[in-house]
Amino acid sequence: MGKEPFIELIEVTKTYRLDANAVVALDHVNLSIARNEFLAITGKSGCGKSTLINMIGGLDSPDQGKVIIDGEDLSAMDDRSLTLFRRNRIGIIFQFFNLLPILTLEENIALPHLLKEGANSLNEKIDRLLVEMDLTQRRHHKPHELSGGEMQRVAICRALINDPDLILADEPTGNLDSVSGRQVLEILRRLKEEQGKTIILVTHSPEGAAMTDRILRMKDGRIIVDQP
Ligand code: ADP
Ligand code: MG
Repeated sequence: MGKEPFIELIEVTKTYRLDANAVVALDHVNLSIARNEFLAITGKSGCGKSTLINMIGGLDSPDQGKVIIDGEDLSAMDDRSLTLFRRNRIGIIFQFFNLLPILTLEENIALPHLLKEGANSLNEKIDRLLVEMDLTQRRHHKPHELSGGEMQRVAICRALINDPDLILADEPTGNLDSVSGRQVLEILRRLKEEQGKTIILVTHSPEGAAMTDRILRMKDGRIIVDQP
């Protein structure tokens, strides 16, 4: 019996309509991703990378086709189940960090956890993440007091606070200098190696793609190269 893929996209299609114009952002995409795989998605701006990530993250839904994660069809879930699934199983990291400016670093990290019922052992978890991400000195700072690299490491802590098995990173190094960018890539690699996470990384950086297990290239809403 073959092993079930962790993530499976079947004929996923998404069209955006702006007035009379239709943009096919995803065009019958089929894709299987194994548990603990580190996958890179590359391709020119506008080719559908973020749309693909958003489908897998349950942030957007396909017009046609299915997204199945760990045997669960996202389109068959009601809003509440999908929200819980996202919160507990998926961590998302964005290019522009998406930190809340009025909250301190530790409050930003705690946020997804506070949304959960029965939250406990939060401080311990935050302490551990701050040490892992080399941010212990910054705990009570606000985002504007941090460097880009530090802000992205805070966003990684926030993505990890509920211990998801899947990490989605949409151009996480796109706004960082090369040293901070490399640090973020090394952290992602470590999350795969040491914690068994499954990671999907959208990147323009050949260095970033080279650190993954498989590189997928997209063009006009389709996957054109899928090389191991
Ligand atoms: P990428 O992340 O590869 O740059 P996107 O997935 O963001 O590409 O976008 C794919 C295509 O879909 C682009 O042509 C983009 O303009 C279009 N698109 C994405 N989101 C929307 C939206 N909310 N409304 C209209 N068009 C969109
Ligand atoms: Mg994008």
